[in-house]
Amino acid sequence: MPNTVRQTITCDVAIIGGGIAGLWLLNRLVNDGYNALLFEQTALGGEQTVASQGMIHGGIKYTLSGTLSGASEAIADMPAHWQACMSGTGNVDLRGATTLSDHFYMWSSASALSRMATFLASKATRGRVTKVSSKDRPAIFQHDDFNGSLYKLVDMVLDVPSVVKALADNCQERIFHIDWDKAQWHHLTDKKVSLDFTYDGHVHRLEAGQFVLTAGQGNETLLQELGVKSPQMQRRPLQQVMVKHTYPHRFFGHCLGAETTPRLTISSHPCEDGTQVWYLGGTLAEKGVSLSPENVIASAKKELEELMPWVDLSEARWATLPVDRAEPKQRNFARPDKAFASITDECPNVIVAWPTKLTLSPNLADEVIELLQQQRLRPTHGTAPELSFLERPPLAPTPWDIAFGD
Ligand SMILES: Cc1cc2nc3c(=O)[nH]c(=O)nc-3n(C[C@H](O)[C@H](O)[C@H](O)COP(=O)(O)OP(=O)(O)OC[C@H]3O[C@@H](n4cnc5c(N)ncnc54)[C@H](O)[C@@H]3O)c2cc1C
Repeated sequence: MPNTVRQTITCDVAIIGGGIAGLWLLNRLVNDGYNALLFEQTALGGEQTVASQGMIHGGIKYTLSGTLSGASEAIADMPAHWQACMSGTGNVDLRGATTLSDHFYMWSSASALSRMATFLASKATRGRVTKVSSKDRPAIFQHDDFNGSLYKLVDMVLDVPSVVKALADNCQERIFHIDWDKAQWHHLTDKKVSLDFTYDGHVHRLEAGQFVLTAGQGNETLLQELGVKSPQMQRRPLQQVMVKHTYPHRFFGHCLGAETTPRLTISSHPCEDGTQVWYLGGTLAEKGVSLSPENVIASAKKELEELMPWVDLSEARWATLPVDRAEPKQRNFARPDKAFASITDECPNVIVAWPTKLTLSPNLADEVIELLQQQRLRPTHGTAPELSFLERPPLAPTPWDIAFGD
């Protein structure tokens, strides 16, 4: 890398990584008067965000054991927070985003009836779950062969690409592409860092009051490059199944099985050509990690035949998506239920953050802003620097458009 710095760019906060965590945080910071910039290496919405099922839940599914933990309480406010943003009255403007469903369903396989009973008795479900009478069942369950019980949860499902686009559109002039093959951290004498990157043969130095790493699993490499040993990351691998079909009904729901995670989660997403994809997760995707794609697809077919034998998917096309959830490292590989943000031990102007769930992105932004306030980093109300010579990252395509795009 040539070593003469051509231009120094300064800002209050530089965000590295443009998934939901980075984009949401950018919107919050700009709305609060911070001069914030975001740098993305590939495509906005990147890895986990466009691969998610888009369910904004209040934590109910984490109470399948019948108890409401302290951590799951953190998530309970989130649906209302998102709804306020979608209607334009929240602290981030999401009026450009689309809702796929304002509820999802939960039903039980015969082996899990007692678990369902415990779940419904828990105080977390009060006022948030209603039993669906047979005449009000969605089209997919209007079949004589369905003899289970169906419940409706008020939590919503969002069209994630539209959320990513709305967040990016709000702050277009503050989002840039970065090529990490041409970037390196520059260590300053007070343990703080700046970032040097080469563009068009010239070195530019990015100086930020605080860097916030929201690069999902990319945080792991960024922390290594910085020499940071704590905090650390863990990965929770999944192999999701995608079913592209012409069956006319969309569906959003969890089937409860013997485990504390749903046996099968189904969400429906629009493809570019107007058809629908059923996106299958839950225990199927967790156990599918150790299987070949063909075997996960075979398990998915078996599950659907067992749970909805009347649904004809004989014309469907099938594919799988191996994808890791990136989380802060927990003792015993536990599942974190709260957003995580922490100043790194080694670099006082670097915060590392993982939302752990799309739902918790607003919670993550609150946590980061609290850390900025602790550092006495105040908003300077500055305008975005003139960086029009830098490229802009595109929006990430969906996994189903990649898998089935003809
Ligand atoms: C299959 C699946 C289903 C899910 N379903 C749900 C759900 O229904 N509801 C829910 O609440 N949560 C869900 N989640 C969890 C949720 O998707 C994630 O918690 C959330 O999307 C993480 O967002 P993120 O911005 O931290 O990471 P990511 O979305 O992974 O974004 C990270 C971004 O950083 C970029 N990047 C990486 N390295 C660098 C670098 N060095 N420099 C610059 N940029 C970099 C990447 O390209 C990417 O754009 C699901 C997750 C998975 C995997």
